[in-house]
Amino acid sequence: MSFGVSHRSGGGADGRPPTWHGDRVDAAERVLAYGGGSLDRAGPLRTDPTRLGALFTESTTVLLPMWRDRCLVDGHGPVRLSAERAALVRSAAGETVFLGLDGEAAVFAADLSALPERSAVEMAGAVRTVDVRALVGRLEPGDAAVQAYARGLLHWHRQQRFCGTCGAPAVADGGGHLRTCTGTECGRLLFPRIEPAVIVLVEAPGRSGRCLLARHGGAAEDAYSTLAGFVEIGESLEDAVRREMSEEAGVTVTDVTYQGSQAWPFPAGLMVGFRATATSDDVRVDGDELLEARWFTRAELRDRVASGRSLGRVDSIDHRLLTDWLAEG
Ligand SMILES: [Zn+2]
Repeated sequence: MSFGVSHRSGGGADGRPPTWHGDRVDAAERVLAYGGGSLDRAGPLRTDPTRLGALFTESTTVLLPMWRDRCLVDGHGPVRLSAERAALVRSAAGETVFLGLDGEAAVFAADLSALPERSAVEMAGAVRTVDVRALVGRLEPGDAAVQAYARGLLHWHRQQRFCGTCGAPAVADGGGHLRTCTGTECGRLLFPRIEPAVIVLVEAPGRSGRCLLARHGGAAEDAYSTLAGFVEIGESLEDAVRREMSEEAGVTVTDVTYQGSQAWPFPAGLMVGFRATATSDDVRVDGDELLEARWFTRAELRDRVASGRSLGRVDSIDHRLLTDWLAEG
C-alpha cells in the first residue's frame, strides 16, 4: 500500500521545490507524477449512496481536506482525517467526493474553499496550505496522484455550479463524479471535462541526434523545454502535433509517434507525449508565445545537466521525453 503519509519519502512540508540530482534517473522518477495511483476508483460504488454513506462513518475511512486547489498539510505532509474529525469537516465542506478505495479503506476528499484559509487550516488540524506540485519528490507517487486527483475533481465542482444549457443550479451526484441540472425541463447530466494537450519532442531530420527545444514567453532566460499545445475540436492527437509544431515553430513534422501520457489536473489537463521528425532544419518562432527555438545535440543537453540546469520540471512528461531521448545516444 503506497497511499498514506506514513509512507512518504521523507522531508518536511515546507513547500520547497524538488532538487534535480544531475543526470541520475532513479526508479521513482520513472513513474510519471500524478498518475498511476494505487487507489481503486471503485466506480460501481458511486451509484450506491447508501453504501457510500455507510462507508463514510467507518473507522478506516480517510478524508482528505483541500482548500482552493491546495493541500492542507501538517508537519508530516497532507492531512488525512479520520472519521470523527471528518464528520465535522464534511459539515463545513462545499462538496465531499468519493475518490475510491485504498485497500479496504474508503478515501474521500472535502472542499473547504468557502472558508477563509486560516479557518480551513484550523478545522483540518493542519498548519498551512501548499500546492501539490510543491510536494513532488517528498510524496510517494501514489500519494501525489491522489492529491492531484482530489484537486482536479473539487476544482471542477467549483467551476460547474450551473447548467450551461438552461442556467439552473447543478448539484453533485454519483459520489461527486457528475453533477445533475435541477432545471425541471432539463435535468442534464454534467461530467468533468478533460482538456488534452500534446507535448512533442521533435528530432532534426536525418537522425542527426538533435532535438528542438524552445524558450517560452515569460520563461527564465535559459529555460528551454519541448513544444506543447492544446488539442482543438475536430482534431486527432496527431493532427494537433502537426498543427502546433507548424504554428509555434514553423516546423513540418512526420513520423508522429505516441510516447505516453500524463494526468495533469491543474486544473483539467491530460498531457499526451509524442515524438516527431522535422522535414527540415528551418525554425521560425512567432516571438510572442515562443521567444526562441533551436536544435540541441545530446552532448549539449548533457552539459546542461552537468552544470545543474534542469531538463524540464522533474514532475512533467517533458522531463521524461528528454531523459528517454538522451538515454538513446
Ligand atoms: Zn439544465
